[in-house]
Amino acid sequence: LLAHWVPLTDEKGLRQGTVAVFHDISDLKRLETMRRDFVANVSHELRTPVAVIKGYAETLLDGALEEAPDQARRFTETIVRHAERLTNLINDILTLSRLEGRDAGTALLPLEIGSVIDKVRQLMEDHAAGKGISLTVACPPSLPRVAGDQGQLEQVLLNLLDNALKYTPSGGRVGITARPDGNRVAIAVTDTGSGIPARDLSRIFERFYRVDEARSREQGGTGLGLAIVKHIVQLHGGEITVQSEPGTGSVFTLYLNAVSSS
Ligand code: ADP
Repeated sequence: LLAHWVPLTDEKGLRQGTVAVFHDISDLKRLETMRRDFVANVSHELRTPVAVIKGYAETLLDGALEEAPDQARRFTETIVRHAERLTNLINDILTLSRLEGRDAGTALLPLEIGSVIDKVRQLMEDHAAGKGISLTVACPPSLPRVAGDQGQLEQVLLNLLDNALKYTPSGGRVGITARPDGNRVAIAVTDTGSGIPARDLSRIFERFYRVDEARSREQGGTGLGLAIVKHIVQLHGGEITVQSEPGTGSVFTLYLNAVSSS
């Protein structure tokens, strides 16, 4: 609680008393704490790949380059992998900060969700095939259009699909289906992957929250993918739900407002 003292004067400007005004700053405080935590987390996340890159580059300079060419190659590959991780992290942080700047609103236009799904499928089909995962799409042609931002919705589906492929082993299945749901369109991304324990389900949309940190890192995850998804869904006035069974798989369902055809 923040107290603010305001002097009370009469019409001649003479002081008659003082009024105490109390502001509830718990919301402000919470925002400030969240921001500080975020900066601390980002710094921590950036430090690891930078330290790895520096360590391996120093080892190369210290002689590994000439003395152990086989090892040198592996060290260089590790450097590249961590540089990629840094790039992913910086891109995700920039995406989140751009989305936050848009809290005032996003221009939502009528669009065919089928074409968004198709674009995302094209972008990911080689990746799925490379991992030995079958990727299927079921999208009826007569779906109502939804109110959305094409680029942002591509990002949502890419992140969900990327996760589905990341946490599903070779031989598994990943699918995208779309169906009408009252005044909305429901788009589900399903996988036959590792699933998510019930106790973690409510937290996976938080920034940097991961069920298995080592696994996420190893797969090139930043821990920000679902936070970006949630933000975009909010800007669309939509909803996202998740059902999951450890060892069986997960279903992420995105609900978007349909545009009435009249
Ligand atoms: P990350 O970059 O770590 O994947 P996300 O924000 O995209 O970060 O997801 C947060 C966490 O939620 C992941 O680390 C993972 O533990 C869990 N998760 C997300 N999607 C799936 C999925 N399809 N199957 C299993 N776990 C998932």
